[in-house]
Amino acid sequence: MSQRKFDFYIVPTPIGNIQDITLRAVETLKEVDIIACEDTRVTQKLLNHYDIKTKSISYHKYNEKERINFFLNELKSGKRIALVSDAGTPMICDPGAIIVEELTKAGFSVTALPGACAVTTFLSQIPRDGEEFIFTGFIPRSEKQITDTVQKHAGINMVFYDSPERILKTLNVIKTVRPDAKIALARELSKLFEEVVCDDISAVIKHFQDGIKGEIVCMIYADEKIQDTELEFKIRALKAKGFKGKEVAAILSALFGLNKNDIYKKSIDM
Ligand code: SAM
Repeated sequence: MSQRKFDFYIVPTPIGNIQDITLRAVETLKEVDIIACEDTRVTQKLLNHYDIKTKSISYHKYNEKERINFFLNELKSGKRIALVSDAGTPMICDPGAIIVEELTKAGFSVTALPGACAVTTFLSQIPRDGEEFIFTGFIPRSEKQITDTVQKHAGINMVFYDSPERILKTLNVIKTVRPDAKIALARELSKLFEEVVCDDISAVIKHFQDGIKGEIVCMIYADEKIQDTELEFKIRALKAKGFKGKEVAAILSALFGLNKNDIYKKSIDM
């Protein structure tokens, strides 16, 4: 199939299993003139595996700015470039944002290929009620910052990355703010020791009490009590505008996909 050509390609690479790369990604990495890698030694293993001979060059958060002129000159001379990170999707907790901004400003065409990412791999396999979530990237380290972040997003499923060295401490801090929180925690997705645990926070801490190894992605489920409070707030606001119980139920169910009878019962109790 003939493909539209772009100047700059964001190309996801596997997050654990070397086979988790698309045919189009391999083809793109073979066809571009330069591959900008976070760490050329890490990416070289992937390039060797797929017999990709394209020249690679380092591009990481410490030389992001310096590299811009180099890329601009290469692109002006008609070369095409792909950006990869060590694992997963570039710009998801990985560098790339600065170069994309600069290239777009300079009028070059940029595209992203779909592919492996720890957040989406995680979210597509844990039980969830609705679609809403917030991804905070790496959770902050200090107790105060963790508690602030958890409190701020208590009403929504909050997904975050953390390191195996810190996650137990992080969970213990979260427990002080949300003692009944439900947690989903995955480690080593797509790898040999992949494990997903979904339970109350105390049970998850107990499960990993002897330590936890590997790469981690975690979600704190939304606090249902807060969701209830938000619903009550909306019901009150509509009733204050003169809407009757059935109208309130019809509006909120149409807007938020909630159960009409539940809202109606709540609204007449209030
Ligand atoms: N760009 C990557 C992506 O698309 O997911 C994320 C890069 S970030 C520097 C690395 C973090 O992603 C790890 O510390 C871990 O939290 C998460 N991660 C990456 N691979 C993972 C895996 N196989 N299983 C669980 N989490 C993973």
